[in-house]
Amino acid sequence: MGGMPPSAVTRDIAGRSPRGPWADVADADWNDWRWQQRNRVRSVDALARVIHLTDGEREAIRATGAEFRMAITPYYAALMDPDDPSCPIRAQAVPRMEELVRGPHDLDDPLGEDGAAMPVPGITHRYPDRVLFYVTHNCPVYCRHCTRKRKVSDPQSAAARDQIALGLDYIASHPEVRDVLVSGGDPMTLSDDRLDALFAALRAIPHVEVIRLCTRNPVTLPQRFTPELLRRLAKHHPVYVHTHFNHPRECTPEAARCLRLLADHGFNVGNQMVLLRGVNDDAEVVRQVNHWLLRQRARPYYLLQADLAVGTSHFRTPVATGLDIIRALRGHTSGMAVPHLIIDAPGGGGKIPLVPEYIEHQDDERIVFRNYAGERYEYPAR
Ligand code: SF4
Repeated sequence: MGGMPPSAVTRDIAGRSPRGPWADVADADWNDWRWQQRNRVRSVDALARVIHLTDGEREAIRATGAEFRMAITPYYAALMDPDDPSCPIRAQAVPRMEELVRGPHDLDDPLGEDGAAMPVPGITHRYPDRVLFYVTHNCPVYCRHCTRKRKVSDPQSAAARDQIALGLDYIASHPEVRDVLVSGGDPMTLSDDRLDALFAALRAIPHVEVIRLCTRNPVTLPQRFTPELLRRLAKHHPVYVHTHFNHPRECTPEAARCLRLLADHGFNVGNQMVLLRGVNDDAEVVRQVNHWLLRQRARPYYLLQADLAVGTSHFRTPVATGLDIIRALRGHTSGMAVPHLIIDAPGGGGKIPLVPEYIEHQDDERIVFRNYAGERYEYPAR
């Protein structure tokens, strides 16, 4: 057996990703999420030990700090190409001067989460049967394209314990809420005890059927998901996990092991990829990530057109780019690898699915369409 090549599935978890300047750190530290949190890269000098910073990046780290801080786990920082300023990990984690530009379509609260849709602080209740519940505004890595950058990374705006209690009261007093998205920031920045207590409190509300955990930790700090924590959270099933892989460079052995551990503990993981110019605005990049996700038992769920958050216009792609990507995937690979393309309507209109046009003609008698290969077919209209 020793001479057999590794299968496509075992290959994903073999070895470890690069460690950059942390090559001498003991495995026990590197694999400890608390060590990763404590040693996050937060300054120009610290980042200059990891990558060759451009003058623009140096200036941007200083200029954007007051608005939206920089923080990068050593694990995620070590995935960067030290010599390539257009590296997709670097684009997502290192500030750029474009963040200070307010584009003509930019909005402070792009999804209308804070206004009329927020009945109590920390709860957005927009759809009839589900709520968003913000439990922290901290994250291991501050993604430069973050939709909630207006409050994320600001320690003053983090949800205090009494705010979380208010949110739980709101959910308990609204029997129509059957689905709760626990979000932030990244909820996985809370301690094991607080997460367990929060999930137990939600599970104790009789009308809450489904809990969803929205977290980018599988991408930026996969070490956070320890078997011990997952055993504790699995008591509160059904718990679904929404995560946010954007590029194949994030598809590391550590991330693969994390997703498999989640699946082994009964967590159904879906990926919400955000379309970003220069990162993943390319069908082949999306296909590679989605095939990798499926090998780890995680499901490509959404491909999101970037929101109109202030200072993110340099990331936005034309709407046609997403449609072209879906057209390039649909039929050419398994349907499970094809996510829903979504625009989250500005101002709080909710998620609108976009589908490439396949119908050429439609009347009372027949529908004429083209399949994925461009061949024409007809189907009776009724
Ligand atoms: S992990 Fe999510 S909430 Fe945190 S900075 Fe990234 S996109 Fe924003």
